[in-house]
Amino acid sequence: MNGSHGSHGSHQSPQGMSQNPQSGSGQGGGPKRKIYVRKKVCKFCVDKNIDIDYKDIGLLRQFTTEAGKILARRITGTCATHQRKLTSAIKIARTMALIPFTSGHTV
Ligand SMILES: [Zn+2]
Repeated sequence: MNGSHGSHGSHQSPQGMSQNPQSGSGQGGGPKRKIYVRKKVCKFCVDKNIDIDYKDIGLLRQFTTEAGKILARRITGTCATHQRKLTSAIKIARTMALIPFTSGHTV
């Protein structure tokens, strides 16, 4: 009695309830990489080792234009706290003639 009935196991739902809520399972994580362009994060908040110093011209230059103008926060991604420190550091650097004054915008 080997009555192997071809039982129709695949029960098709009439409405095709394909309500798959595609909950993002923890896949595609991958190795953590440094995100550069994607999200702008405050450089100083990320790297606590960086000290905002007016003598650090190389650093300050990254936040100023060629003319020595301070770049806006939304351009550099610096947070308000550090932007303020940065601004004062740049101003000191200007006073010390380490960075050129912005034309017509003297403090
Ligand atoms: Zn910051």
